[in-house]
Amino acid sequence: MGDGPVIVWFRQDLRIADNPALSAAAKAAGADGRTVIPVFVLDDAAPDTGAKGDLCPGGASRWWLHHSLAALGEALDDLGAPLVLRRGRAAEVIQELVDAAGAAAVFWNRCYEPHAVARDRKIKSSLQDQGIGARSFNGALLFEPWEIETSSGGPYRVYTPFWKACLARPGPEAPGRAPESLKAYDGKIESEALDDWTLLPDRPNWAQGFEDRWTPGEAGARARLGDFLDEALADYADGRDRPDKDFTSRLSPHLHFGEISPRQVWHGVERARQTSGSGFPEQGARKFLSEIGWREFCHHLLFHFPTLPHGNYNDKFDDFPWRNDPGGLRAWQTGQTGFPIVDAGMRQLWATGWMHNRVRMIVASFLTKDLLVHWRHGEAWFRDTLVDADLANNAAGWQWVAGSGADAAPYFRVFNPMTQGKKFDPDGDYVREWVPEIAALPGKYLQAPWTAPDDVLAEAELELGRDYPKPIVDHKTARERALDAYGQIKGS
Ligand SMILES: Cc1cc2nc3c(=O)[nH]c(=O)nc-3n(C[C@H](O)[C@H](O)[C@H](O)COP(=O)(O)OP(=O)(O)OC[C@H]3O[C@@H](n4cnc5c(N)ncnc54)[C@H](O)[C@@H]3O)c2cc1C
Repeated sequence: MGDGPVIVWFRQDLRIADNPALSAAAKAAGADGRTVIPVFVLDDAAPDTGAKGDLCPGGASRWWLHHSLAALGEALDDLGAPLVLRRGRAAEVIQELVDAAGAAAVFWNRCYEPHAVARDRKIKSSLQDQGIGARSFNGALLFEPWEIETSSGGPYRVYTPFWKACLARPGPEAPGRAPESLKAYDGKIESEALDDWTLLPDRPNWAQGFEDRWTPGEAGARARLGDFLDEALADYADGRDRPDKDFTSRLSPHLHFGEISPRQVWHGVERARQTSGSGFPEQGARKFLSEIGWREFCHHLLFHFPTLPHGNYNDKFDDFPWRNDPGGLRAWQTGQTGFPIVDAGMRQLWATGWMHNRVRMIVASFLTKDLLVHWRHGEAWFRDTLVDADLANNAAGWQWVAGSGADAAPYFRVFNPMTQGKKFDPDGDYVREWVPEIAALPGKYLQAPWTAPDDVLAEAELELGRDYPKPIVDHKTARERALDAYGQIKGS
C-alpha cells in the first residue's frame, strides 16, 4: 500500500462503533500517520440495470437516510475527519476520489444486494489492478451468507436448520469500539451539501409523523436497544404478536442502515443477561435473537438466490393467475379496504413509515389472497413507504406470505382479517388508534363493522360507505377464489 490516504466508503453501515472498515482504516492510519477520507456516495441512478441504488431509497428511506447521514457527519466531525458526500455512480465517484487524493486504499463493509455484490466486485478488481489496496469487511451480518452451508455444501432453504447451524458456530466476536480520533486528509476534496440532495419530502411533507417516533442515527439506535432490553424484552416472547403493544424492538430501520450492527445487538442481549441475573427473560431473548436470525436467513437467501426481489422463488407461481385490480390496490395502499385491521396497518405504515410484523403478514395476505394482486405490487409499495425497507427482508417477507418463497407459509393458509384482529388486537386499541372513524363501535363489531346492527351503527354515528368503506370483498368468497387460483398451479 502506498502512503496516500485511506478512503472509507460508507454504505449500509452508518455508524462509527463496531465498523470494521473504519477501524481498519484508523488502524492503518495510526500505524503510519496516514489520513482517512470518509465518503458516502448516493448511488441512486443505475437505470441500465433496472436495479435501485445502494440503499434502495424509497421515499421513507430517503427521509431516514438524510437524518442518518447528518448524524454520521457530526460523529465523524467529532473524530476529526469530515464526511464527504457525493452523488453519482459509485464506481466513477470512487475512482475520481482515488485519483484526486492519490488514495492508497479503499475500505468498505460488504452489502449483499445482488447489484451491490456485482458492482463491488468490479470496483475491487479495478482498484487492485491499479495497485490500490481494496478491502471489504463484514459489518452487517452475524454470519456471512457463504459461511453457513448444508451438509451437502449448498445454501439453506429452510429457516430452522439454518438458524440451528448458525447457533452451532462460535458466537459472534465482541463488537469493536469507535476510533478515538482520525487524521483528516489535508488536501482539497469537495463535499456536496446534504440539503442539496433533497432527500426530505417537501410539498407536501408527508413525513411529519415520523419525527416524533424515530431518532435516526447511531445514538438513537443504541438508545432504542437499551430501552427495548430494559422495558420490553421480558414481554417479547408472549407479546411480540400484539400490534396494540410496544413489545418489539423497532430496531429494523437502525439495522437496515447499519446504525447498529447485529453483533452489537447480540452482545447487548448477552450483557443484559449478565447484569440481570436470575430474573433474565431467557425465552424472550431466545425469541428475539431468532428474529435477528430471520434477518440473517433473508440475507442468506438473497445472496444465494439473487432473483428473489423480482421472481418467484418457487417457479410454479410463474403461472399463478394474479388479478389486475388497480382499484383494489389503491384501496389497500390508502387503508380504505373496509377491513379495520388491514386499514389500521396500512395507515400506520403511511403515517409512521413502519408497521408491526403481525400486521405486515395480515395486509400481505389480504393483498395476495383476498385481492389476488401480485406480491410484487405489495413489495414495491412497502419499499417506498417503509423506513426499514430492505431488499432481502422485504422480498423474503412478501414471498413467505404469498406462498411462493423459500420455507413459505402454504398458499392455502389464508389469514382471516377478522379473526386475526380479534386475536392480536383483543381490546381494539390498535384499530381505534389508526381507524378513528370507527372508534366508537363496541369491541364486538370493531373488526367487522358491517356486521353491526343499524342501531349500533347509528349510536356510533357511523354510516358505512360514507364515513368508512364497506368491505371491498367478501372474505369467504375471496378465500375460495384464492384457493381455486392456487388449485390451478398446485399440480403443475
Ligand atoms: C410482507 C413483509 C415485509 C417485510 N418487509 C421488511 C423490510 O422491508 N425490512 C425489514 O427489516 N423487515 C421486514 N419484514 C420483517 C419484519 O416485519 C420486520 O423486520 C419487523 O416488523 C421490524 O420490527 P422490529 O424491529 O420491532 O422487530 P423485532 O421483532 O424487534 O425483531 C428484531 C429484528 O429482527 C429482524 N426481523 C424481525 N422479524 C423479521 C423477519 N420476519 N424477517 C427478517 N428480519 C426480521 C429485524 O431486523 C428486526 O428489527 C417484513 C415482513 C413481512 C411479513
